[in-house]
Amino acid sequence: MPARSKAFQRALDAALDNQAQRQALERTLTRYRQRRAEAFAEVDFAALRADLRRRKEAAIARLPELVEQFQHAAEAVGATVFLARTAEDARRYVAELVQRLGVRLVVKSKSMATEEIRLNEALEHAGARVVETDLGEWIVQLAGERPSHLIGPAIHKSREQIAELFSRVLGRPIPPDPPQLVQVAREELRRAFIEADMGITGANAAIAETGTLVIVTNEGNAELVATLPPVHVAVVGIDKIVPTLDDVPPLLRVLPRAGAAQKLTVRVLFVTGPTRTADIEIQLVRGAHGPRELHIVLLDNGRFAAREDPDLSEALLCIRCGACSNVCPPYQVVSGHLFGHIYTGPIGLPLTAIHHGLEAVADPQSLCVSCNACETVCPVAIPIPRLILDVRARVAEQLGLPFMKRAVLERWSDPARGDRWARLAAFAAAPFADRDGFIHSLPFVNGATSERHLLAPARRPLRDQLRHLTPQEALARPAPEPLFAGSKVVGRTVAFFPGCLIDRLLPEMGRATVEVLEACGCRVLFPPEQHCCGLVASNAGDRRHALELARQTVEALERIEADWIVTPSTSCYAAIAQDYQHLFRNEPAWRERAARVAERLIDFVRFLDQVAQLGPQEWTRPGPVVTYHDSCQSANALGLRDQPRRLLTEVLGCQMVEMQESSFCCGFGGTFSLDYPRLSAAILERKLRTAAETGAPLIVADNPGCLMQIRGGLHARGNPQRAVHIAELAAERLADLARTLRDPHANVRSHGVDATSQIDVSEPRGIPQ
Ligand code: SF4
Repeated sequence: MPARSKAFQRALDAALDNQAQRQALERTLTRYRQRRAEAFAEVDFAALRADLRRRKEAAIARLPELVEQFQHAAEAVGATVFLARTAEDARRYVAELVQRLGVRLVVKSKSMATEEIRLNEALEHAGARVVETDLGEWIVQLAGERPSHLIGPAIHKSREQIAELFSRVLGRPIPPDPPQLVQVAREELRRAFIEADMGITGANAAIAETGTLVIVTNEGNAELVATLPPVHVAVVGIDKIVPTLDDVPPLLRVLPRAGAAQKLTVRVLFVTGPTRTADIEIQLVRGAHGPRELHIVLLDNGRFAAREDPDLSEALLCIRCGACSNVCPPYQVVSGHLFGHIYTGPIGLPLTAIHHGLEAVADPQSLCVSCNACETVCPVAIPIPRLILDVRARVAEQLGLPFMKRAVLERWSDPARGDRWARLAAFAAAPFADRDGFIHSLPFVNGATSERHLLAPARRPLRDQLRHLTPQEALARPAPEPLFAGSKVVGRTVAFFPGCLIDRLLPEMGRATVEVLEACGCRVLFPPEQHCCGLVASNAGDRRHALELARQTVEALERIEADWIVTPSTSCYAAIAQDYQHLFRNEPAWRERAARVAERLIDFVRFLDQVAQLGPQEWTRPGPVVTYHDSCQSANALGLRDQPRRLLTEVLGCQMVEMQESSFCCGFGGTFSLDYPRLSAAILERKLRTAAETGAPLIVADNPGCLMQIRGGLHARGNPQRAVHIAELAAERLADLARTLRDPHANVRSHGVDATSQIDVSEPRGIPQ
């Protein structure tokens, strides 16, 4: 992607400095996440989302036909339907209506489609005053802002800021008390509903068989907007059309739960044509207690084209619930004003590309940390992170990568050059590293080290330390004797894929993994041709180099004679086993080869849990007290949660103390932490705070990227907690097992003697050699 614009950087700095906004977002979204879990607790989320997705997919597949059907059905009940191909067409239609009918005052209910086409500006230009009546929309209208969230437009504002705004605009003091603030809005807006000449709404669904609009609200303002003024205009994206009334209840069950953690919204309005009566001699008269005219603007604005787009078409399944924003770590810090354009949050990035073009999304897309949390909560299972990466790749292809990133990826994509470059970097960085291997200050990387020290590359990469494990040498030796009792993989062969972070920066983590695999009784091989899975390139949007690295990785791993390929990096696992299938979408032969590699690939935790099937061991001393950080890739991409906890407690004998929202991101995100050091540090701060609250001396994780980030943060703060890979913890416990094997009665003698952590937290481990 191109270097970010100065205006974007200024806005980002302002958002990071805006403590009130950050607190409001953290408070609100943390509460939302807890309540969302409760709202879905009593229903089968997986089944509901599968059903809703199937219905949405079927509707999008039949979209041209459904648009026509809806138009006929709505016109048959007296509505006027206009199919707007562009935003300009839609704006012009409504503005001309305003002028033709002499409309002076327009009231609106919440509608992202009207935001998308910037309708308010066009109507004001046509001579009408526009009043937003959704409370959040009214707040942002008074503030001269735009919505920062798909369903919570003013979510970025605290009650104090809203009270201050109301007091300033209305010229009287209004206290920061939500009921009083709502009362003010009610009093101020009531007259507008009555005096308005036109009401404008959106719709959450449009039923093709009956020409019906479905509008869900909590505030009740949409009913007033759609009922009191004599003319009702609805602006509806064509992606909202569903075939039949049967398609609505599944939406009503999911949308409120996902969006507002509610079982059902307060109001659901069905509008089938203008109001009418036939009570007097069965003569139909339009406009009884509601509008006599209903105009429906069906908005294309890129939707038909997106339907044909193999990478972005799934964005059309979106039901605009906003759930993806509510779990997005960068969004929580900077708000939707930065993280999006008109459409905000994770799905706002592909939607912006569809409706507003690549330039509009060039800066915001770079804020995605690729944590995958959004995909886990999306009620229609849109692979949002993948869509964002496709947008990023297009931005990079059309607008170019920053010079430095391009130069580094160019070198890194060639294994021999990459190796030379990494060794040179290790040599150059050594004078700047402290005795723990951390670099405290690197002025040329824009404050990247102020809140989190950076690990210097290891002078001796793991590949040098594991030369004795080349396939020829390792296969010539017998498999080691197992230390873990009950291992189901004794005598089997495992190829070890540490990933480049462990290879170059955290070799001790790789050695620990090998030790533990050998303690399971496996013969471990280190395929020397391995280099990098390419995740760093695909995360940067550099598809060409991502493909080169992926091909190289497949070639290095497919020829290895081993029962499994084990990696202690869940990021590498997800890249190879999941992302390669999309990366190679236009190269079926490579896709097939990647799939075969993926069949043997497994992450370290699942290997111990499901393959080796380790059970309780005979420890002489209890394990340490630990808290567990679920890395984004482990929790969100692989669905790991119980497995590492079972290993820690049942197998390794540790005591677990859960941290709040253990799967919330640590802010690493690969080069994200270098591109956005302040934002990354703000996300990390939350992780360190929740980890510290547990009081556990050890933070355990299964992902080297997270551990690098957390260790750097702990080190920068002088925090005595340690962060270790679960493989390192297991390796440290092996000495205890070895003692048990030597002296089978050791555990009996020492039980209850020393219940403290056997790991000395004052002695940092895991520092590059
Ligand atoms: S992408 Fe999914 S989670 Fe995000 S707003 Fe759309 S439906 Fe909701």
